Amino acid sequence: MNRRQFAISTLAFSVPCFAEGTTITLHGRLMQPDGQAATLAVQGGKTVTLEGDPSTTGVIQDKRLKGLTFELLGAYTPSGAFRIDPIHKQAMFVRKDGKKLFVTYWCAICSIRTYTPGICYCCQDETELDLREKID
Ligand SMILES: [Zn+2]
Repeated sequence: MNRRQFAISTLAFSVPCFAEGTTITLHGRLMQPDGQAATLAVQGGKTVTLEGDPSTTGVIQDKRLKGLTFELLGAYTPSGAFRIDPIHKQAMFVRKDGKKLFVTYWCAICSIRTYTPGICYCCQDETELDLREKID
């Protein structure tokens, strides 16, 4: 993210949006069908197609998260897909051993934490998946 994009996202964050629907919580297992959008296998044998902003999509397509139990905040779209809230709202959690974990990515060389998979913007090394109970 460059400085300009950061300024824009900060601005968007500070302006309340009243057009949004009610946020609901969806629980299920993350599925990643080949060549298709990620889905969530929810109770009752249903699968729900997931949507989100580019950073959110990066997380749900991360192969390291395949098959894990997720708790997602967002809203259904008119087409029946589930749109996850924007990445800055911290709308994705992994449920593991009774814990609710934030999905984060960590560069140990630079001590930089990000919230979508990819290379570290500082050293260009691949960031590691780091599921955490708290974000410092
Ligand atoms: Zn780094």
